[in-house]
Amino acid sequence: MIAPDLRSGVNLLGDMIAQASVIVPFTGAGISTESGIPDFRSPGGLWTRNRPIPFDEFVARQDARDEAWRRRFAMEPTFAAARPGRGHRALASLYKAGKIPAIVTQNIDNLHQASGVAGDHVVELHGNTTYARCIGCGKRHELAWVKEWLARTGYAPHCTACDEPVKTATISFGQAMPQDAMRRATELAQQCDLFLAIGSSLVVWPAAGFPMLAKECGAKLVIINNEPTEQDEIADLVIRYDIGETLGPFVGN
Ligand code: NAD
Repeated sequence: MIAPDLRSGVNLLGDMIAQASVIVPFTGAGISTESGIPDFRSPGGLWTRNRPIPFDEFVARQDARDEAWRRRFAMEPTFAAARPGRGHRALASLYKAGKIPAIVTQNIDNLHQASGVAGDHVVELHGNTTYARCIGCGKRHELAWVKEWLARTGYAPHCTACDEPVKTATISFGQAMPQDAMRRATELAQQCDLFLAIGSSLVVWPAAGFPMLAKECGAKLVIINNEPTEQDEIADLVIRYDIGETLGPFVGN
């Protein structure tokens, strides 16, 4: 059902949370707009301004890598200033209360960790943009090192260990999904009794398959998103209101 108003939505969600033993949240860019990070598809979102750079272009062309890093550092003031919003804090409260074993996220902004969820309990399907990795050997590099390299050479960096290009530790279009994160997200979706899809347009696959999987495996599905998604029809509850307003009442002390 679609919640007829915000208050009924919050009440129904509260009942479902109280009845559930294992809750798995699945978050997208919409949970972080309150923190000042634009999403992809809303008006003014990142995609309306920049065409994503696919992985094969990043690998093949120095100018694509230079552009990718230029964009990343253009966003740095936004990412650096972002603090967890009410949505992140509500989920952290339920995590601390033992209701949430782990959070599955499409986000790359590190805000679930910043809200107090242990890094091991944040399953990042699309990686993390707050550090970098070599695409050859996987060595981790810090953004300060990348910034210094760019300032010194004017070009995107290569790995000091194996000379392959260094990229934010995110998953680009056309790049293989991280196997361990996919396996863990699959298990969480199969084992929970309440699955909360929060702030995702549910159009980026394979990530968008998890709400459906959870539902097929017997969980109740709640979708919290301010616009319709393609999976609203299979949800037990759709709350089409602001995430901060919806989850604010679940922030603990
Ligand atoms: P999306 O942009 O496709 O969808 C976000 C959805 O959230 C939209 O439907 C929008 O209407 C809704 N929304 C935005 N603010 C909201 C609010 N305050 N309350 C309720 N709903 C709100 O995002 P997606 O489904 O996560 O897919 C985009 C991909 O882009 C993801 O894979 C992610 O990796 C990446 N991304 C991440 C970030 C981040 O880390 N914060 C930001 C932009 C994009």
